[in-house]
Amino acid sequence: MKLLVRGAEAVLSPGAAADSVLIAEGVITAVGTGLVADEETAVVDARGAVVVPGLVNTHHHMFQCLTRVRGLDQPLFGWLDELWPLFGSHDGDWQEAATAVAVAELLLSGCTTTVDHHYLPPGPGVRDPLDAQVEAARRLGIRLVSAVGSMDIDDAHGGLAPAALCEPTDRYLHRLADLTERHHDPGPASRTRIAVAPCHPLAVTPALVREAHAFARDQALGFHTHLAEAGDEEAATVSATGLRPVELLAEWGVLGPDTWLAHCVHLADDDIEVLARTGTAVSLCPTSNLRLGSGISRIRELVDAGVTVSLGVDGSASNDGGSALAEARQLLLVSRAHGVEHGLTASEALAVATSGGAGALRRPDLGRIEVGARADLVVFDISGLHAVGTEADPVAGLLLSPPATARHVLVEGELVVRDHALVHADPAELAARAREVTRSLPTG
Ligand SMILES: [Zn+2]
Repeated sequence: MKLLVRGAEAVLSPGAAADSVLIAEGVITAVGTGLVADEETAVVDARGAVVVPGLVNTHHHMFQCLTRVRGLDQPLFGWLDELWPLFGSHDGDWQEAATAVAVAELLLSGCTTTVDHHYLPPGPGVRDPLDAQVEAARRLGIRLVSAVGSMDIDDAHGGLAPAALCEPTDRYLHRLADLTERHHDPGPASRTRIAVAPCHPLAVTPALVREAHAFARDQALGFHTHLAEAGDEEAATVSATGLRPVELLAEWGVLGPDTWLAHCVHLADDDIEVLARTGTAVSLCPTSNLRLGSGISRIRELVDAGVTVSLGVDGSASNDGGSALAEARQLLLVSRAHGVEHGLTASEALAVATSGGAGALRRPDLGRIEVGARADLVVFDISGLHAVGTEADPVAGLLLSPPATARHVLVEGELVVRDHALVHADPAELAARAREVTRSLPTG
């Protein structure tokens, strides 16, 4: 299958100026100007548009799509306490409906690869809700890294969640092995991968972390967790362990290029140096951090230190949405809170949202438009009202102007959004199904 994306105002590629991208069998085979389609090649119209790499979202909790606008004026711990009882109702129907909504939002905002960090155990004797998630993501066409989480310390013993949402380590390890065997595809064309993701250092025992990390290393899977999100969480970590969050993970031996950490707001100078030296990546979640009043990451310093910096929309209950392009805009703007000289440029923010995410997931063949890269591309229209006057730098305009939906999105050279519409789903049906499940939840 060959495809030519043709006639763009600009293609964001490291090479010379281009207006076309040629794709064969899921891979970019040429980037240039005035490329011509032969009889076997389908054409995607990019006139009046710019073409950028597919965005990569490295932290999400898709199930939270059904619990937006809860704990409205609470910080992290109070917000969690309000949500845990609702999360107790979570099941496969919830996961399938929420995943479909989250993936639809991501695709329409130009995201082609996403992580989902899921830390709730399945109820006894029922199908793992992550099976429903994998099926929903496959149906819509996004690349999914399902980061399988768990908790084994409950809130009566210094953890975060009620005992009903925790599970024994051996059960978690069994689930990990089972989900990896059934769903993990390590190949370059893969649309489903598994990662190992204990929920949070305060919610898991060192034994769980040690065994889960050993499994990740053995299976060559990524390792992910939350870290240093809120000030009182940092204080609780120091109080419980005598170590700062980054020091604790270093002590556990889980830092390294196969690990990426969500949030990383409360970092000391030494922490940034350790993350850079060990090759550990971070996933910044600026909207969630503002919503919960957690603070602002040291964005410029992380980038300048050489840390692999990526972007996450975080769960939809603390965002309260899932637009990857809106998150990139948020990152750009919040990075400038203490002066433009300390902030990112638009092109740096877009790099964090694309190649930065690819780096965090160890997918150097994603997040860039170059010959040999996988053909994950987004065509953003710049002919509408929102982009009037951005002709001087239309790519910067994508982030500086109000976020638009994508005209076309290609994953592995396959159109999954065409003319601003999902190819494999009807958004009205997805929303109706999700509302049906949401109506069965307590109103709080
Ligand atoms: Zn999170």
